[in-house]
Amino acid sequence: MNTVRMDNLSWVDYEARIKAGAVVFLPCGATEQHGPHLPLGTDALLASALSEDVARAVNGVVAPALSYGYKSQPKCGGGQHFCGTTSLDGATMSALVRDAVREFHRHGVRRLVLVVGHFENQWFVTEGIELALRELGPQAGLEVMRLEHWDFCREDTLADVFPDGFPGFALEHAAVIETSLMLHYFPHLVRLDSIPDDGPADFPPYDMYPARTEWVPPSGVLSSAKGSSVEKGLRMADDIVSGIVAAVCHEFGVQAAQ
Ligand code: ZN
Ligand code: MN
Repeated sequence: MNTVRMDNLSWVDYEARIKAGAVVFLPCGATEQHGPHLPLGTDALLASALSEDVARAVNGVVAPALSYGYKSQPKCGGGQHFCGTTSLDGATMSALVRDAVREFHRHGVRRLVLVVGHFENQWFVTEGIELALRELGPQAGLEVMRLEHWDFCREDTLADVFPDGFPGFALEHAAVIETSLMLHYFPHLVRLDSIPDDGPADFPPYDMYPARTEWVPPSGVLSSAKGSSVEKGLRMADDIVSGIVAAVCHEFGVQAAQ
């Protein structure tokens, strides 16, 4: 039984892995529109797939993804007005993370990595970690790493992936990075012939509530996904996986598997 997926392990096998000191990875995704060409589960699917590649390299375990995230924002996820986008209040999201972290600690996990795959989750995931650590107290012995996986894309990679200039991670919603990574991991879920011509979206330097939905391209894509390719996806996945492996080995003192 060599799986890295917690949901495929019996509790007995899971316990043995934790007792052996396995690092646990918790992908934090969303259920959110990703244009007409990508599935609603893109953020959780990618965070999970990347986590599984990392876990294989460090003998880790990947927990089932948190598949709902904080509310989609117009400037980085298109906003809440799209059918299918299904979001949590911030307090709910933080409580979900807090409870999960506390449960992993109860299992005996002492090294936990929260892999954020949805831009809007960042501070609510942070809050959940903070609340759990405060509740568990200073003797808990639990160390938590939080990361946004796209931050591990190297600058030389981004320069090659975006020959006309990188629009920034916020506008990369359902665009070249996510579409290329999906082509690498889940090609059967990508509809290349449905990629719209929209973008890049041009937002003012402020937000409005209720949201001005007319600021957002009707397709939900914030910058063009036209330049996406499986080769770009492989290169970015390599950056992200090798970068997270290195960070985990550095911070947690684990050895990468051969
Ligand atoms: Zn996304
Ligand atoms: Mn998202």
